[in-house]
Amino acid sequence: MPEAVLERAAADMLDWHDREGRASGMSVMEMSHRGREFVSICEQAEADFRALLAVPEHFHILFLQGGGLGENAIVPMNLSRGGIADFVVTGSWSAKSQKEAQRYCEARVAASNAETGFTRLPEASGWRLSSEAAYVHICGNETINGLEFQELPDLAALGSAAPLVIDFSSHVASRPVDWRRVGLAFGGAQKNLGPAGLTLVVVRDDLLGHALEICPSAFNYRIVADNRSMYNTPPTWAIYIAGLTFQWLLQQSEDGFTGVAAMERRNIAKSGLLYDFIDGSALYDNKVAPGSRSRMNVPFFLADESRNEAFLAGARAAGLLQLKGHKSVGGMRASLYNAMPLAGVQALVAYMREFERLHA
Ligand code: PMP
Repeated sequence: MPEAVLERAAADMLDWHDREGRASGMSVMEMSHRGREFVSICEQAEADFRALLAVPEHFHILFLQGGGLGENAIVPMNLSRGGIADFVVTGSWSAKSQKEAQRYCEARVAASNAETGFTRLPEASGWRLSSEAAYVHICGNETINGLEFQELPDLAALGSAAPLVIDFSSHVASRPVDWRRVGLAFGGAQKNLGPAGLTLVVVRDDLLGHALEICPSAFNYRIVADNRSMYNTPPTWAIYIAGLTFQWLLQQSEDGFTGVAAMERRNIAKSGLLYDFIDGSALYDNKVAPGSRSRMNVPFFLADESRNEAFLAGARAAGLLQLKGHKSVGGMRASLYNAMPLAGVQALVAYMREFERLHA
């Protein structure tokens, strides 16, 4: 989380103030979600997110709950019409999405990189897309395996008329989105946007209104859109914090760029610094092919894995936290989300260099 966001939330914790500095006399957590104050927070958050990611008017921005894993069921319930959906499996998260969707539709694997050990994105020209698919699912950034699409696939150019669905949970707002190539994007807020509990769905207008009978009303995109995300009580606190984060993001500038374009410059610099160091080192190794590497999550391994615990203990002592890799892949993982400053990556690289020197 950006420190400025946490400071602002702390200052307003007991008594929220509006943009003109007028006190509301209550915490955001105490507000009615239909009251004037919270409605203004929610509408501002939606408008700021739209501005931040240049979301066109024919897309709805929905604030939901249930997380990325919830969307693995909610998307097929809303979009598949019980027919066929194509999945490009590039790591743990897209594999989970494909598995869950099987409960609601015929979820086909159009491409998979499992045989590379999830280290290289499959070339789009080789994807086996179904002509009748209701949608094509990709995970934009594989958080565990450390792969990221550097460009969204152009499905029309691949001969498919299906809308593209992206799980952008772990890289939303780290780079601009080319909405011309997207039908729906979803993600939990807890990586780049705010606390856990809020799920964002950005969905093209024509994809609403096709939900399966079994779809819960609270997860029916048509109903949620018609009710401006207030069909049931939305996660008010998480929306508030995400709204503060959107404002913080809109204010960021770098090399003459602002907003997400500024974040993209920073994220290129941050991840480039770490990958260059790893590639030049004899102790550390990242196995992902350079064109497939994530700017957000950098998994790496020590050549001598018996030193893992010593590496993590030294890192903790240096104030470098949460570097242990996901249990399914082991090793280390540095997550360089938007709020991580370049100085944090510089500190990590300095520590890694010193650790290598001491253990050479
Ligand atoms: N997709 C991706 C890419 C993720 O990184 C995560 C969480 N790490 C999920 C889905 C699952 O999200 P949630 O825990 O919010 O259900």
